[in-house]
Amino acid sequence: MLSIKNLHANVEDKNIIKGLSLEVKPGEVHAIMGPNGSGKSTFGYVLSGRDGYEVTDGEVVFDEKNILELEADERAKEGLFLAFQYPVEIPGVSNMEFLKASIDATRAHQGKEPYDAVAFMKLAREKCKAVNLDQDFLKRGVNEGFSGGEKKRNEIMQMMLLEPKLCILDETDSGLDIDALQVVADGVNACRNSDRSFIVVTHYQRLLDYIVPDYVHVLSDGKIIKSGGKELAHELEEKGYSWINQL
Ligand code: ADP
Ligand code: MG
Ligand code: MG
Repeated sequence: MLSIKNLHANVEDKNIIKGLSLEVKPGEVHAIMGPNGSGKSTFGYVLSGRDGYEVTDGEVVFDEKNILELEADERAKEGLFLAFQYPVEIPGVSNMEFLKASIDATRAHQGKEPYDAVAFMKLAREKCKAVNLDQDFLKRGVNEGFSGGEKKRNEIMQMMLLEPKLCILDETDSGLDIDALQVVADGVNACRNSDRSFIVVTHYQRLLDYIVPDYVHVLSDGKIIKSGGKELAHELEEKGYSWINQL
């Protein structure tokens, strides 16, 4: 599904990703861990095609397509979803309008008709319930005045509606309370299936107690320096990252 070979990428002319390779098969969950500043968030942004992130070498093939040639919105339509990427507020655009527009754009790309407004409303209400968000959130401006936890719930709802093939979650350094963490994990677990893959970026082992990964990779200075199974996350929690650097 995703094949990354020897990826090098710059931010602001500074080389941050320095030869990263990763293979993700359908249905797999890969956790990317690593110390602060190792390039985890940058990696997610590079995959999503965010402006200002320049790939200087290597290849990224997603679903047999070279996605490095595609713009961010085209990658999203191909089924790539970067969660927690919209911290921006969009006042005046309701969450419902925003969700329907993004989903209809994906459907159009797949040759499908836009959602019927009533059917979409029903579906969106169901998903609100699934992530424990009040239905009023659908009427509010995108992220306008949402708390950190509410933003994450909203993103999970968006993920459930978009049904992407590959989801990249960047658990940012900002702490989630235990309830929000549980909602994120339950949402991800509910979306797991044999076709859909996840890359979960986190530097806390805690999240991986709830979202149990198939593989754990340690990113250090823009490269994966160690890979293993879920037990690697526990080992890191116990021994810290310096242990790996000394190998
Ligand atoms: P992580 O998510 O692992 O904590 P980041 O990907 O956020 O790490 O950052 C990796 C490195 O890239 C850091 O040294 C950071 O300062 C640098 N970096 C990230 N974004 C920018 C930017 N926009 N301009 C300059 N340097 C950046
Ligand atoms: Mg950071
Ligand atoms: Mg980060």
